[in-house]
Amino acid sequence: MRIYLDDNKKELASIICNKCKKEIKVENGIVKEGCFCGDTQFGYFSNKDGMKYFFDLCEECYDKMITEFAVPVETEEVKELL
Ligand SMILES: [Zn+2]
Repeated sequence: MRIYLDDNKKELASIICNKCKKEIKVENGIVKEGCFCGDTQFGYFSNKDGMKYFFDLCEECYDKMITEFAVPVETEEVKELL
């Protein structure tokens, strides 16, 4: 869950992990620790057509979630680090 300083959602104040409620470190609008940003919109053929879904997970909750996957997540080395 993202909390913004302004109504236009431009200035990020803080992020709360939707699963465990841990506050994810944000300084001057920049996310300073691991965070999974869930942002999806199901399509016409789903039961959720017309809705967007947003959530955030801290790195620990993300790690727990992916251990439950039957097929491991795909990974790829990033050449240019953020
Ligand atoms: Zn968490």
